[in-house]
Amino acid sequence: MKQIELVIQNPTGLHARPAKVLVTLAKQFKSEISLQYESKRANAKSMVSVLTLGAVSGSCILIQVNGEDEDSAIREIEAAVRSGLGDNDSHAAAPQPAPVAKSLATTPSEPTPATLGVLKGIGAAPGIAVGPVFHFRPAELDENSFIDAKVSLPEAISQAKEQLTLLHQQMAGKKLGAEAAIFEAHIELLEDPELLEAAQAAANQSAAKAWKTAIEERAAAIAALNDPTLSARAADLRDVGQRVLRLMLGLSEKGISLPANPVVIVARELSPSDTASFDSEHVLGFGIVEGGPTSHIAILARALGIPAIVGVEEAMLALADGVPVILNGNDGTLTVNPDPDVLARAAQSQRRWLEYRRFAAEQAALPAVTTDGHHVDVTANAGSPADAAEAMKMSADGIGLLRTEFLFLERSTAPTEDEQFSVYRAIAETMQSLPVIVRTLDIGGDKPLPYIQLKAELNPFLGERGIRLCLNRPELFREQLRAILRAASYGNLRIMFPMVSDLSEIRQARAIIDELRHELNAPEIQIGIMIEVPSAALLADKLAPEIDFFSIGTNDLTQYALAMDRGNASLAAKHDGLHPAVLRLIAHTIESAHKYGKRADICGELGSDPAAVPVLIGLGMDELSVSIPSVPTVKAQVRGLKLSDIQPLAQQALQCSTAQEVRELVKKHFG
Ligand code: PEP
Ligand code: MG
Repeated sequence: MKQIELVIQNPTGLHARPAKVLVTLAKQFKSEISLQYESKRANAKSMVSVLTLGAVSGSCILIQVNGEDEDSAIREIEAAVRSGLGDNDSHAAAPQPAPVAKSLATTPSEPTPATLGVLKGIGAAPGIAVGPVFHFRPAELDENSFIDAKVSLPEAISQAKEQLTLLHQQMAGKKLGAEAAIFEAHIELLEDPELLEAAQAAANQSAAKAWKTAIEERAAAIAALNDPTLSARAADLRDVGQRVLRLMLGLSEKGISLPANPVVIVARELSPSDTASFDSEHVLGFGIVEGGPTSHIAILARALGIPAIVGVEEAMLALADGVPVILNGNDGTLTVNPDPDVLARAAQSQRRWLEYRRFAAEQAALPAVTTDGHHVDVTANAGSPADAAEAMKMSADGIGLLRTEFLFLERSTAPTEDEQFSVYRAIAETMQSLPVIVRTLDIGGDKPLPYIQLKAELNPFLGERGIRLCLNRPELFREQLRAILRAASYGNLRIMFPMVSDLSEIRQARAIIDELRHELNAPEIQIGIMIEVPSAALLADKLAPEIDFFSIGTNDLTQYALAMDRGNASLAAKHDGLHPAVLRLIAHTIESAHKYGKRADICGELGSDPAAVPVLIGLGMDELSVSIPSVPTVKAQVRGLKLSDIQPLAQQALQCSTAQEVRELVKKHFG
């Protein structure tokens, strides 16, 4: 047996992501591997078990390995723990969920909420819902019936896996690629060795009771760790536990049926299974007390196009079923019992919003051309081959940003050149002749990979990330570039570098591409850079002659220009890309690109914000790369704009002093 004591360096301890990396690595070895933290012991091959350890940052854990491959196992686990276990406690380069529109400047105007009876939350999915409230409470299962379970635990687990596989396929087929992963994670939980063992070991109870106890004990332990990332795991565990329990008791999949008339569903929390089981024809909106804008329900609601607000005041749960409400997913309010005038205006806004969305979807194949004939490309941000197929369905003009991190995350070794090649090739072929901008690996100190040794950094957002990291690791960079260059002959690929801060980085990266092109006998390829560091925006006139295009990453550009962490929830309202300082950086970038006959695109979330679209196009942006569900509505919005009208508006925006002023200006302009 081998053992070693290691300190968990991850800032938030052994939370969900590092635990997953550790468990995935441990499962690759035949040896038995256990972790001990204080008096708690965990099976390193069980996600549930590792999470319940609750090892916080700085905790010392004892790792014991026993078996034929113990030498290599302990060596690799040590290296992985020391390099941070792929930790990620920020949202920097992770694929971001679709944005929440901050205002619908050019879409139908919204009702003014009545001052009385307005409950506050956070807008999580845009749109307005008007209708009666229905309080969703998951049915409590009667413990007395546990003794009469009709289906054995192994059989119920196998049926649950079939249901989850089906749900996964349905979600993936319905433009919900990323969301489908939730059900994949549920399947994984049902294969957790420690959980299954605990449920089977409790022989003195009925099988159903033993299962419920095993789930409850672990979910409670995870939830008690007081970490928002982990409490989501506790909810997943309860969700999947309930599914199995219902199957054991022979109950139908749907716990509760909705009234015949469409309703606004309010609930303390909704599990992914509950959300997926609702017939979206009967749901007008979601109001949820627990969960933030990145919770499962928020992601699913956005993808389904159902307005949603989250983090709503508790008082919402006291509303009786049938009470009329206006749920506003744009400003995050729930107006209770609105007076007839407000209700009528909201109902009108709701009708117009729905018509607008339907109309936009019908017209999605039309080009985005302003009323005075100015063409803008509307492309999609993608993070997987499934996204590429979806972007085609939505009639995107191409992929303006392919985040390649999905190929590198959550694994213990780097993807090979061939592995990468086949994915890039598949995406290029899916998009046919449409352009695909492949961004090279944007990873760094904020989310280290277990197979890349990085020094601990005090400020990872300002550390070795993006192009800096790739230039320091030529092997990793070259493998990716070779894979892209080889795949380029199967479609219309372009290469883009993230986090560039000056010309020397472009020259070094271009020299590598030239060398590899020569070696591979590959054709010329367009090369662009992201403008997401203020120094690059300010130097845009110096950089433009040496690239083919700029793509402005407003998520990071706003973070660095305003010195506000993009993942900090309490700064979320102020982290606004319409800040005039950010707009000035954007304007200078576009001007510099055009001076040298180059294109200027945007791929940050700001491009999907209806209030920003007229300003960005007015400043001369050639292409907006937006979240996939936003492609039709952004295209429709562009078709309603007149360039000669929004150019002066954009100039006025540059003269504002705050983001709020810019938003008011746009709102006033469009009435
Ligand atoms: C950005 O920073 O705006 C961007 C698009 O890149 P990411 O969100 O992947 O950092
Ligand atoms: Mg970025």
